[in-house]
Amino acid sequence: MSDRNASGFRGLRLTNTLTRAKEDFVPIDAANVRMYVCGPTVYDFAHVGNARPVIVFDVLYRLLRHLYGEAHVTYVRNITDVDDKINARALRDFGAEIEAGRLSLNEAIRRVTEKTADQFHEDVAALGCLPPTVEPRATEFVQPRADGRADMISLIQSLIDRGHAYEATGEVLFDTASMPDYGRLSKRPLDEQQAGARVAVDAHKRNPGDFVLWKLSSPEEPGWESPWGRGRPGWHIECSAMSAAYLGEVFDIHGGGLDLIFPHHENEIAQSRCAHGTDVMANYWLHNGFLQVEGQKMSKSLGNFYSIHELLETETFGGRKWPGEVLRLAMLMTHYREPIDFSVRKLEEAEALLEKWRRKAAGSASGQIDDTFVAALSDDLDFALYFRLMNEADLSASGLKAAAELVGIDLAELATDVDVADFVARRLGFIREKNWAEADRIRDELLAQGIQLKDGKDPATGERVTTWEVKR
Ligand code: AMP
Ligand code: ZN
Repeated sequence: MSDRNASGFRGLRLTNTLTRAKEDFVPIDAANVRMYVCGPTVYDFAHVGNARPVIVFDVLYRLLRHLYGEAHVTYVRNITDVDDKINARALRDFGAEIEAGRLSLNEAIRRVTEKTADQFHEDVAALGCLPPTVEPRATEFVQPRADGRADMISLIQSLIDRGHAYEATGEVLFDTASMPDYGRLSKRPLDEQQAGARVAVDAHKRNPGDFVLWKLSSPEEPGWESPWGRGRPGWHIECSAMSAAYLGEVFDIHGGGLDLIFPHHENEIAQSRCAHGTDVMANYWLHNGFLQVEGQKMSKSLGNFYSIHELLETETFGGRKWPGEVLRLAMLMTHYREPIDFSVRKLEEAEALLEKWRRKAAGSASGQIDDTFVAALSDDLDFALYFRLMNEADLSASGLKAAAELVGIDLAELATDVDVADFVARRLGFIREKNWAEADRIRDELLAQGIQLKDGKDPATGERVTTWEVKR
């Protein structure tokens, strides 16, 4: 696949965090290309930073399906529904019911996780993301399963049996010193970690970098029976179990945000390789850059976040709602490995671009995708080149539509009535305040998008009403 053809296509190339190099992608089995991406911990609304990996890996999923065929790609994205943050949330939201004996903690946890997972699905669907092939939930992979798929307890047992894990004061810990090349992904060799000793030193750990595979639960905490007592899994082990359950011991691509490289992915690799005795867990490790606000990573802990839900449904960011396609395109206008500064200006830029394409594509059916687009995307998802090509004057309407479709953007939809209704309501507010300049600005902005407003009176009530017509 290394020969360039006329369109510049030389096969899929991806930047691999394991080698820090752009490499030719060669699947283990072209009839079943396998990708795992770490999914959300479901205790609260996902913020728009969390949406970035979902969108980026959705584009890669679509590209893999294009290159290898829809039936030949397996994409697994898990749901983390066991976590101490979830327990805390359940106690906060349902404390009174639990205390009164109307609800057990487990039922309260289930309510939190189901509601949050439903919200997540709604949010990412609005952002144009396909559901993954399989979406396993961690709680279903703690104990050995009837279907014989990999589970966390069996994996931990293998690690103990092979001399890679030990029990100490109510925990089972991974013994980092038992793995000579621990730290390969994050390029943090073990001795360096110990010298730096950034990781808290606990007396019961043999080495400061050793991490929890299993911890005992108090009677009030959720737990599962295990050979080491009633307890719950550490964070990292779930992905080792669920990836093995659906993708096998070694698979093609593993993805997530930059912040997961260490410790999460490093520890997934340690667990999976040591439990299975393999040289690698996945061949290609891909990481997206951060979505930032004023130069800082958007995160719950910093409090500088906007949930996907509030951007879609409320007017908290820039005084208006933002359609899912606008959020999606804004996310794709920057290369996936670079940081993005999230701003109203960025979203407006995406919206203007989308409108321009929609006008050009209006009324046309989707055509054949040109190979130059596939080549651009295949070059480590070169979004900049991709969108430059979409802006080319001689691209046909049907070609434009096909190109948009490959990255999950539907140009068929006109601005929805809801969006227009929003503008109209704001304009009426300005009219009431006699702020004619702002009112006219909104009218002209809509006109530029092909939407003509018509002012009139409600024949029934005599109230001022505005209707609109799409002119394109
Ligand atoms: P978390 O719920 O924090 O485990 O994050 C879920 C996913 O979102 C992970 O892949 C993170 O790397 C990713 N993520 C979290 N915050 C950001 C951000 N500000 N920008 C990009 N990705 C992020
Ligand atoms: Zn993971």
